[in-house]
Amino acid sequence: MGENIIRIRNVKKIYQMGSESIPAVNGISLNIRQGEVCCLLGKSGSGKSTLLNLVAGLEKPTEGQIIFHKKHIERMNEDQLADFRQKYVGFVFQSYNLLPTLTALENVTLPLIFKSVPVKERNERAMEMLKAVGLEERATHKPQEMSGGQQQRVSIARAFVNRPPVVFADEPTGNLDTRTTYEMMDLITGLAKQNNQTLVIVTHDLELSEYADRIVMLQDGKIEKIEDRTKGKGEGEEGHD
Ligand code: ADP
Ligand code: MG
Repeated sequence: MGENIIRIRNVKKIYQMGSESIPAVNGISLNIRQGEVCCLLGKSGSGKSTLLNLVAGLEKPTEGQIIFHKKHIERMNEDQLADFRQKYVGFVFQSYNLLPTLTALENVTLPLIFKSVPVKERNERAMEMLKAVGLEERATHKPQEMSGGQQQRVSIARAFVNRPPVVFADEPTGNLDTRTTYEMMDLITGLAKQNNQTLVIVTHDLELSEYADRIVMLQDGKIEKIEDRTKGKGEGEEGHD
């Protein structure tokens, strides 16, 4: 497993609801490694999505530091955050978040348009990605003309087309049936491993954490336990016994 790509230091996110303070993330420190599949596992309300959004630069922490390579995400302004997300981050959401008026191909080209890749090259690269997710025949279809699983494949293609060092996925299979869920997990973890990309997946489903190199269990905004599944496969720290 690679170097630490993201370092999370004593991070808190406290939401203020009237007079009530809700500590959604309540003092988390964690290193995420280059190339690992890291699964944030916990019950509904345990703070998984909030932590993911903080690390992905979608929200600001109330306290603490989030360091990506050497850059402090918590110190960035909105423009810098937008730039950071475009360059370094891909997203897969439970509800796919495709643009309904665009075709599958056009949806996948979006991150390349923001990066000013020339038209011909971006269409080629988007088509390559659609092939990789098994959807080349659906390139001209709009989201509503596709099944949930197909839409999630498009959104996976979009997340990976830029080859971002980190892809974040929040309950990516939450709306899919069991068979499609496993297809999607195979696809997403396979793509990440191919290019040594880091994958941070949020789930409440213990079975999906089978795909993880490390499982970070959250409870009440805190880390309850970390299970390193690379240990014993020859990649972990040296044992003492
Ligand atoms: P999970 O993804 O594990 O289900 P969340 O991170 O969405 O958990 O939420 C953690 C806690 O923070 C919950 O109690 C939730 O109600 C609260 N919370 C999340 N987002 C907000 C918000 N924008 N405003 C107020 N409370 C929030
Ligand atoms: Mg959530």
